[in-house]
Amino acid sequence: MTASSISAAAGIAAPSTDRPGTREVYDLSLPFRRDMPSYYFYENRYQPPMFTVFSHKEGTPLGPETKDGYVTHVSFLTHTGTHVDAPRHFRDDGQYLHEVPADRWLGEGPILSVPKEEMEPITAEDLERACAESGLDVRPGDIVGINTGWHRRFCGPGEDRDQAIEYMERNPGLSRESAEWLVAKGIVTVMIDSPAIDCARFMPYGDSSFQSHYALFAENVPAVEGLGGQLDEVTGKRCLISCAPVRYENGDAFPLRVLASPLP
Ligand SMILES: [Zn+2]
Repeated sequence: MTASSISAAAGIAAPSTDRPGTREVYDLSLPFRRDMPSYYFYENRYQPPMFTVFSHKEGTPLGPETKDGYVTHVSFLTHTGTHVDAPRHFRDDGQYLHEVPADRWLGEGPILSVPKEEMEPITAEDLERACAESGLDVRPGDIVGINTGWHRRFCGPGEDRDQAIEYMERNPGLSRESAEWLVAKGIVTVMIDSPAIDCARFMPYGDSSFQSHYALFAENVPAVEGLGGQLDEVTGKRCLISCAPVRYENGDAFPLRVLASPLP
């Protein structure tokens, strides 16, 4: 195993800076597996991703003649792990996932440090302070990432059920005013390391106002939720960011891989 193979903490391959011509690319995604926290803990309708082995080289489970490869079948709630909400998720006049222009999935932007504890809303002043302290700014056309530190609480219920429920139901997040601050800056997409863009106070465990969802989606700004992975390593930097989901027709949301490369 070489130094650039696997970073043990996150289980993510380290950037391959030893190859000429390659960028330093960081993976800001959570792992996608069966042991995932998910919505509907609160209604006792917990729905983890379900994986079925469709075909395997040993011939299972379809019979001995299916030895040509390893194929799985997966079913999951679209709002699982690192995923993006399309504006249509909350607004009848919002764009479905396939209608979101591609320029919202690839671009530049700052990854801001906004440390928050459980149930704490992010204010517009928090975002201004994060910019001032890092020397970063938010520009029209930016994809903005927010690191509250909450991603460090991520775990599956198989690992620690209480912590998994806490991760889903007590998260910090945006409020209407901080969402409107970002919209006024002309951003194209926002990303956060909590499982919902709204602070839990505005989710079904709180007042169900979904206020930042509505504020963002009124302007067709998609919300990437559940950042994780190597997020800390690019926080405080301006990056080239890729966050494209599957082109799911009439989709409300879909998991995605978020990649970031710090700009010089
Ligand atoms: Zn979602």
